[in-house]
Amino acid sequence: MKTSIATVSISGNLREKLDAIAKVGFDGIEIFEQDFIADTGTPREIGNMIRDHGLEITLFQPFRDFEGLTGDARKRAFDRARYKFDTMVELGADLILVCSSTHPDALGGIDRAADDFRDLGQIAAERGVRVGYEALAWGRHVNDHRDAWEIVRRSDHPNIGLILDSFHTLARKIDPNTIRRIPSDKIFFVQLADAPLIDMDLLYWSRHFRNMPGEGDLAVNEFMRSVAATGYDGPISLEIFNDQFRGGHPEGLARDGYRSLVALMDDVRRTEPDVRIKTPEIPARIAVEGVEFIEFATNGEDAYALAQLLKSMGFAHAGDHISKKVALWQQGDIRIILNQETTGFASSAYITHGTTICDVGLKLDNAKATAARASALGATTFEQPVGPGELNIPAIRSVGGSVMHFIDDESGLSDVWSVEFTRSVSDAVAGAGLGKIDHVAETMNYDEMLSWSLFYTSIFDMQRTPMVDVIDPDGLVRSQAIKSRTGAARITLNGAETHRTLAGSFLAESFGGAVQHVAFATDDIFETARIMSENGFEPLPMTGNYYTDLQARFGIDADRLNMMRDLNILYDEDASGAFYQFYSKPFAGGLFFEIVQRAGEYDGYGAPNAPFRIAAQKRLMRPKGMPRR
Ligand code: MG
Ligand code: MG
Repeated sequence: MKTSIATVSISGNLREKLDAIAKVGFDGIEIFEQDFIADTGTPREIGNMIRDHGLEITLFQPFRDFEGLTGDARKRAFDRARYKFDTMVELGADLILVCSSTHPDALGGIDRAADDFRDLGQIAAERGVRVGYEALAWGRHVNDHRDAWEIVRRSDHPNIGLILDSFHTLARKIDPNTIRRIPSDKIFFVQLADAPLIDMDLLYWSRHFRNMPGEGDLAVNEFMRSVAATGYDGPISLEIFNDQFRGGHPEGLARDGYRSLVALMDDVRRTEPDVRIKTPEIPARIAVEGVEFIEFATNGEDAYALAQLLKSMGFAHAGDHISKKVALWQQGDIRIILNQETTGFASSAYITHGTTICDVGLKLDNAKATAARASALGATTFEQPVGPGELNIPAIRSVGGSVMHFIDDESGLSDVWSVEFTRSVSDAVAGAGLGKIDHVAETMNYDEMLSWSLFYTSIFDMQRTPMVDVIDPDGLVRSQAIKSRTGAARITLNGAETHRTLAGSFLAESFGGAVQHVAFATDDIFETARIMSENGFEPLPMTGNYYTDLQARFGIDADRLNMMRDLNILYDEDASGAFYQFYSKPFAGGLFFEIVQRAGEYDGYGAPNAPFRIAAQKRLMRPKGMPRR
């Protein structure tokens, strides 16, 4: 498969874009005229610079408002075309995109347009270039790929072909399966973009909200399957206009783009039986069976306080690492590691962020296959020297730079706890009923949320749930859950737009996205809260008003409500079930723990309670704007 990306999809100047695009592994670029005009090089120099990056120019674009004109206007359109063809020859580009006209004087008429393209094909042939015609979703007369194809067909010229763009087809809700009837040799180029479903003007939607395949809600997979079914095996190119991306990091965007293309084509390969596009054979998406461990990088007073907190929550100090200053705390199936090493990854994470969750271990079916898929999708493999007696557990860097380990039963990797840890004598502590990790909540800048969700949904067999708004007294936080099919692994992503929110201030202090809270599940939250309270655990105090309102909303009986008030337990319910939760006080710059109980089929995270929880946490934290260190 030949991968390509439009220069408009990436931030930066042309040279920065080329560096980023080449680095992550694309084969080619669509060069946007604007990027080319803004550069100081001559067309020939720019063409050479692109090829020096190991990239091919797959397309030159755009050429607007060509067809359907008469008289002088028609003549001028052909003059413009000649100028562009000459530029292409200098650049070393052999294909140009002509998008359907939005010109107020364009007359329409399939045959008139076909005549225009036949004449244009002749001029293109003389210069050895080809012309691809694309139906814009808002084209004046042509806004459907089926009409564009009819024009191409009637122009009957070897240098005239069709360009398909998933956005233009899917935004107008045109059945992508209609592509299956177009001959592959007349499809000159394919552009892909996804987008969130928003009801708005098509032009505005397209220019500001496109995103990478898999990041939005359009049926890009079905579109690409239809294209592949024709036998098309030319370039597959991303053309993404997005306001957030324009201010993003060029290499991060390029990597997301590459990841989205590889994942999409892998899906196409698996679902469309007979395609000519050769795609790499990579392992299928991996099902996540749960979170195997959470590792804190910590030291000094923080480390002591954290150990006391875990103890009050019913965790037992279950073991110590055979050679490192690393302690294992355990309760039920939950494993928490406190790493106080002064060298290695955890130590550098501590130096950069303070006490932080530097590593999350996922339990899955096949650790090696997961690492192979992640690495094929452009993830960075993580390796650290393995000491004597230690296992070599596959790991990658996650989006925020923390480490993610993959653990399975098959390869003996889940034996790590008995192999690398000595059993502690103090493991006879009675627990508080915490059985497993319910969810891990990560906080990042809102602009990075798509990157994080693409990371999880492209590597793992996990689905996104719709985004919800969480109202912090000082700004909005968007929250989105990613979960495995069974719900055994749940990750919530919280995107902060301002540093004044609780999530935002955590970001400012921790220098980048990271896990901010971990939620543990219990089967009896009242009993758990009582035991923890006897152990000296101090829950996050909720207001009396919260409970008055709760009774008004749900009509909870007085005894139960009193118990909830005494234990600071929050409550939510919906048609599928009920949800109980309480929180620890924030520690180490805004980290916290949560205890939850799900009843029935409740699948959410208590979002209606978030504003009250956040207000309570903020009352306990330092005044706004006061730095920690
Ligand atoms: Mg396009
Ligand atoms: Mg939570």
